Amino acid sequence: MSNSDCLFCKIVEGQIPANIVGRNDDALAFTDINPKAPTHILIIPIEHIDSITDVRPEHANVLSEMFRLANDLANLQGVSESGFRLVVNNGPDAGQTVDHLHLHLLAGRNMTWPPG
Ligand code: 5GP
Ligand code: ZN
Repeated sequence: MSNSDCLFCKIVEGQIPANIVGRNDDALAFTDINPKAPTHILIIPIEHIDSITDVRPEHANVLSEMFRLANDLANLQGVSESGFRLVVNNGPDAGQTVDHLHLHLLAGRNMTWPPG
């Protein structure tokens, strides 16, 4: 179900343009508008889910398909060997700014640990 006030639902519905780089039945991927690494792709569920806090057992397949798409894209981007980071910011302290669940796929440079 989509949420009419949600930026990423609007991208799913084509109301806001995005550079779509992958999709499957349950997930959509597009490049981040403000990239933080040479590769910075957002992978979202097509169905609106606010955040990890709202994930329920019936979302198991959706989560699995998000990770599968992330893995496929890492292969396509040629970063599977060099490495990549998958990040979910959940809630205010983590810096979540869009309330539609998304995985950040970051790659193409060395990353520090712990993240800031
Ligand atoms: P968060 O801060 O919620 O973890 O991540 C939201 C991400 O969405 C940010 O990295 C931000 O740059 C990206 N973003 C925000 N608005 C848009 C947009 O309209 N298009 C795209 N492609 N990315 C967006
Ligand atoms: Zn949404």
